[in-house]
Amino acid sequence: MNTEEIIDLDKKYVMQTYGRYQLALKEGKGALVTDFEGKTYIDCFAGIAVNNVGHSHPNVVEAICKQAKKLIHCSNLYYTQEQVELAELLAKVSPHDKSFFCNSGAEANEGAIKLARKFTGCGEIIAMENSFHGRTIAMITATGQHKYKKGFEPLPEGFKHVDYGNVEAVADAITDNTAAVLVEPIQGEGGVIVPPKGYLKDLKKLCNENDVLLIFDEVQTGFGRTGEMFASQTFDVTPDITTVAKALGGGFPIGGVLANGEVGDAFEPGNHAATFGGNPLACAAAKASIETIIDENLLDKAKENGKYLKNKLEEQKNLHKIVEDVRGVGMMLGMEMSINCGEIVKNAQDQGVLINCTADTVLRFLPPLIIEKEQIDTVAAVLDGVLGKIS
Ligand code: PLP
Repeated sequence: MNTEEIIDLDKKYVMQTYGRYQLALKEGKGALVTDFEGKTYIDCFAGIAVNNVGHSHPNVVEAICKQAKKLIHCSNLYYTQEQVELAELLAKVSPHDKSFFCNSGAEANEGAIKLARKFTGCGEIIAMENSFHGRTIAMITATGQHKYKKGFEPLPEGFKHVDYGNVEAVADAITDNTAAVLVEPIQGEGGVIVPPKGYLKDLKKLCNENDVLLIFDEVQTGFGRTGEMFASQTFDVTPDITTVAKALGGGFPIGGVLANGEVGDAFEPGNHAATFGGNPLACAAAKASIETIIDENLLDKAKENGKYLKNKLEEQKNLHKIVEDVRGVGMMLGMEMSINCGEIVKNAQDQGVLINCTADTVLRFLPPLIIEKEQIDTVAAVLDGVLGKIS
């Protein structure tokens, strides 16, 4: 098939929920992907922060192939070695000792909210303006952006929104019926917004003082993106619950709700479930992916190359007036533009670099953590040419 044939079939047979680029991808290796016409691209989007260990990492491929020959799926009514081994590994690398497995970020957040309500006996969730937590009905409600909710009402009760970065606003919103505060340690889809210094620590203190649980949505920030395994470690704040998905499976779909102590023990049999959640194939992929992050020192690499990429983006800010701000942590970087950045993304794609535009005016860079400095140099050179042409 060629790109045109794929696009035609998509239009005919797939629900048109995505504003897709005119690009069909065939293969991926490391930080590179290839389309159906044989053109190669440096991928600075990594499947929206999924391919942290790079495309088709040999360890993940081997784990999937080996596991697929043994046992692809079995019901959660039975134990599997792969699920307990992944849970044990997560207890080592995360601030939590218990896991529940599901299939996506939205589903992980749903599980976290059920867990918080079950543990506290309270109903209200305080979430942030400009946040993003997924596309289920409850998660578009938790999400602090009107565009995701419009047309899908009625929405469930029990969610309030306050300004991101403002602890007093959370304090004012807490009532006797508040179960949890749900927050992204760095807002991703909202435009790579890093919270003010001390905000997350203050939030934790406030939650402790009011017996309210703190939930970190680490679906995008997790597994090395910020230069530590979790952003909670980068900001040195331990939440009560962490939700994960995206990079957990090294490209294979899996999500999780992680918690500690009494919170982690709050669900009883029958309270929550997912048919596919934590099936042996997904868990084998996830274990290989986490082990790869550790064995290949990808946390240090994310810190070092993240700094290198950020410097390159800052150079672009000095060169081009349309760049207003460069921000982010580790390999989660944003470049705020004075114009809508759709055209920039398209031009960069034509020149062999995949980046993303979020919140209309923010170029978002989420490359695989294994990206090499020479590839970053190429990305910067392409960006320089595109920004020069557009401005
Ligand atoms: N939470 C955050 C912070 C996200 O960035 C996303 C997806 O982009 C989600 C939740 C939803 O994840 P999923 O698309 O796997 O449901």
